[in-house]
Amino acid sequence: MKVPLVDLAATHSEIAEELRSAIDIVFETSAFAGGPAVQEFEAKFAEYCGTEHCVAVGSGTAALEILLRAYAIGPGDEVILPAHTFVATAAAISLVGAKPVFVDVRDTTANLDPALLAAAISDSTRAIIPVHLYGQPAEMAPIVELARQRGILVIEDACQAHGATYRGKRVGSLGNAAAFSFYPTKNLGAAGEAGGITTNDNEVAKRARMLRDHGSNRKYCHELVGRNDRIDGIQAGVLCVKLAHLDRWNEMRRNVAIGYREGLANSNVRLLSVADGCDHVYHLFVIRVSNRDRVMALLKEQGIHTGIHYPVPLHLQLAFADLGYQEGDFPVTEKLAKEIVSLPMYPHLQAQQVDFVLARLNDCVE
Ligand SMILES: *Cc1c(COP(=O)(O)O)cnc(C)c1O
Repeated sequence: MKVPLVDLAATHSEIAEELRSAIDIVFETSAFAGGPAVQEFEAKFAEYCGTEHCVAVGSGTAALEILLRAYAIGPGDEVILPAHTFVATAAAISLVGAKPVFVDVRDTTANLDPALLAAAISDSTRAIIPVHLYGQPAEMAPIVELARQRGILVIEDACQAHGATYRGKRVGSLGNAAAFSFYPTKNLGAAGEAGGITTNDNEVAKRARMLRDHGSNRKYCHELVGRNDRIDGIQAGVLCVKLAHLDRWNEMRRNVAIGYREGLANSNVRLLSVADGCDHVYHLFVIRVSNRDRVMALLKEQGIHTGIHYPVPLHLQLAFADLGYQEGDFPVTEKLAKEIVSLPMYPHLQAQQVDFVLARLNDCVE
């Protein structure tokens, strides 16, 4: 038996005809950039997230960068983010000329530790970017409350958590604005690169729309210096089709996670926990083992592919060396980076594949 880390083919074959007709319509109308599919997707995704606006853009990274620029965050400003996240969260901050300020994460959830936030805030702090890592919402209540008291913005990085809820509200609607990625392997993925912004802030939505399209909302009238970061019509068409299936696919991911949790009663494997009020959509299923590299190699020999999200903490990456951080600055992040393994996770992972992974894993951690 072979078990890949992710399998998109099973998901797509289930909806192949719907996808083909959505793509055909884009060709028939030649609406390749912008057009009705983009407007339809923006309306549907905003409604899904419970926000006034969705602005679809070229990628999750572009969504983060455009949002920071829409809030006029740049040189001289600081933005707080967890040290344990994908590189793009930090890169977006650097790309607008602001300074990323890292905070350690909780050992139990691998999400931003709200108890460490206050000490990271300075007079230059403009925003906090909590990341809903692996599909689990960050603990938003204390984050939003502190930000409100200190007059700081909250921009969710929801790139791994499409459809997850916190205290009954969807991610994307929990702060001032949010960034989503629709990279193909995300819970809601396009057939190429795509991203989106959600917000209830009319002014920011308007600025984001301009920034993605040459700083313009009227032809040849450029209010801002913008870029070309529009979403393709084909991607929007594909996303409209897939959005209708997202809740069901997230439910299938939760069932896979239940299987893993029940079968991993092994003292050599540590699981991450789900915090109060958080509904997890399992973009990834991450475990912790002390002999990580050996476990991964043994599983691979058995045809089971695993991953590491992420092996090198951002504060120790060359790209961020000028920030002056050192080894030891974020002990939980550093420990996670050495111990985490992402097990195969996708909606159509079969129960017998889960059992196979569990059996092989329980063998090789003994
Ligand atoms: C995928 C991802 C991004 C970036 O999205 P792209 O669409 O790949 O640019 C940003 N943050 C997190 C946490 C992600 O997982």
